[in-house]
Amino acid sequence: MRPAYADYVKCRQCDAPDTRVIDSRNSENGASIRRRRSCAACGARFTTFERVEEVPLEVRKRSGDREPFVAGKVRGGIELAVKGRPVTSEQVTRMVTSVEDAVRASSTPLETSSIGELVLTGLKVLDPVSAMRFASVYKHFEELSDFERAASELSGP
Ligand SMILES: [Zn+2]
Repeated sequence: MRPAYADYVKCRQCDAPDTRVIDSRNSENGASIRRRRSCAACGARFTTFERVEEVPLEVRKRSGDREPFVAGKVRGGIELAVKGRPVTSEQVTRMVTSVEDAVRASSTPLETSSIGELVLTGLKVLDPVSAMRFASVYKHFEELSDFERAASELSGP
């Protein structure tokens, strides 16, 4: 079992719980933060590696409600549109990643309709037929979550 965070960051020298961060930098792979800490009681210094908190990505529905961004939903919508078309799963993955990047880069939650537009734009470049399919289903439903529901109904159990 992993030690509790409070135990992990307390002073290694005297067990004092109160340590101060004096330096903080991302580790090379970006998955953790390397922190240099200093004990308030005895002045001992040590280094911790702490996990980067994942910021949950959110999107905004037309109603104004927010919901978590689920890359799998986007992928499901794209996969249905490209079914039987000359679009590789690598291309689909790249498209999903670029949508996710756009969601992450936005300072406010993107509207689900903007995400649909992004997918449509990407599909138009890859395969116009897939783009038309995506547009015809998507226009009816507006929301990607509805698209996902339609996709699961069409593809069966
Ligand atoms: Zn100490």
